[in-house]
Amino acid sequence: MTAPQQDVRVRFAPSPTGKLHIGGARTAIDNWAFARANGGKFILRIEDTDPTRSTEENTQIILRALRWLGLDWDEGPEVGGPYGPYKQTDRMDTYAAALEKLKSEGKVYPCFCTKEELDAKRAAAESNGGSYTGYDRTCRSIDPAEAQRRIDAGELHVWRLKVPEDHAAIEFDDAVYGHMSFPADVMDDMILVRSDGTPTYNFAVVCDDTNMRITHVIRGDDHLSNTPRQILIYEALGYPVPTFAHLSMILGADGKKLSKRHGATSVEEYRDQGILPDALVNFLALLGWSLDGETTIIPRDVLCREFSLDRITRKDAVFDEKKLDWMNGHYIQAMGAPAWVEAATPWLIEAGATAEDIAARPDWYARVYPLVAERLARLNEIPAKLAYLFWGPRVELDEKSVKKVLKKEGSRADEVLRAARAIIADESIEWACDPLQDTVHTLCDTFELKPKFVFQPIRVAVCGNMVSPPLFESIELMDRADVVARIDQTLKDVFGD
Ligand code: GLU
Repeated sequence: MTAPQQDVRVRFAPSPTGKLHIGGARTAIDNWAFARANGGKFILRIEDTDPTRSTEENTQIILRALRWLGLDWDEGPEVGGPYGPYKQTDRMDTYAAALEKLKSEGKVYPCFCTKEELDAKRAAAESNGGSYTGYDRTCRSIDPAEAQRRIDAGELHVWRLKVPEDHAAIEFDDAVYGHMSFPADVMDDMILVRSDGTPTYNFAVVCDDTNMRITHVIRGDDHLSNTPRQILIYEALGYPVPTFAHLSMILGADGKKLSKRHGATSVEEYRDQGILPDALVNFLALLGWSLDGETTIIPRDVLCREFSLDRITRKDAVFDEKKLDWMNGHYIQAMGAPAWVEAATPWLIEAGATAEDIAARPDWYARVYPLVAERLARLNEIPAKLAYLFWGPRVELDEKSVKKVLKKEGSRADEVLRAARAIIADESIEWACDPLQDTVHTLCDTFELKPKFVFQPIRVAVCGNMVSPPLFESIELMDRADVVARIDQTLKDVFGD
């Protein structure tokens, strides 16, 4: 663990152009954990300056996903804070002020080149076999008085940064990538403010990170190439440059960049599949970071104590769904019955329960938990695994199980079922797992059959298939009359009784 740093302020800055993706969630977790580990502040900022792709609905989806993950922000939308507002479209005056400062210091210039002119320059550069190395600085040499006259005449223009001619290489020490150096002479005179007055991404981010007193910028390495550009803007504005930490890419199991092809990619999708927030936070925290190179179960409190930038690797991280399943299974086993019933409610309802029933007899549902606690990777497996508990007197027989178990040549399944029915219907036997199971077990001797040939037919007749959770632990949770009725139905449907 690194020594706590003074006044750490980090931010997660999603653009609300879609749902919260796994990569974004990992970035959020790393920022959050870093803030917590250092007694700092975790700030949420909505980067909605792209009006064509940003929506309020997406903002709400992202906020909901962050809340579901349990990543509480200290400043940001809904909670406010001393450096707000926390939405870029509400901060336009701050970008305008920064532009005025740069204008007054002669560090920017208006550019009147039209899109057509720029496209033509690009095409010409490319047709000569070369590549376009950026804006050719045509407007940089326009006399300021002349430029002002054109602006006053209403000519459309953008504002570009005047990258210093003699600038040395742009260098910084990335907390993950180490020392980085970018030649300054290939830096474009980048646009800071568009012709409609809106700031570009690089300009807005530098203004915001400065005004929000951000000390560490922890973000995806897809922004690595933006960093030298942003440093030039910091320098022009005379602002201190924060520490950068760029996080490696997340790859699918096939080594390709994680995308829709790999399946679910948004936090919501994993939530809807019954991944627990604790498991997802633990899993995503380990994409690129490790506690000690081997520990895999890292609860939130440990993460919030131990997270450090020096244990982030620059190696690409691989998203392994199987590991996520394993980890989720672990958290399901560790969560205990009451929390499970609450988390599992939507899927229990899908299985056949009702919200009223869950509220009315939580203890019964708590007894369901041990039946499946060790058998669930994701909560959305609940309907398939537990629907039989909610069928009442009817059973939905699985064809394959009927064939393999009940109709198995020489199995005597019909005789076993008739005898088991008599035991199960016998009111003198206590309705509890052990006495029922022990009594039914005597049929092994009666029929000279291995236990499997006694229990499997009952399992199919009561639970519908041959792979259900433990049989008599399930049966004791049902009504005697219902279980008897299911065996009767099976005897009738399969054996014509
Ligand atoms: N809004 C940017 C994005 O969603 C993040 C910018 C940053 O972290 O600097 O990719």
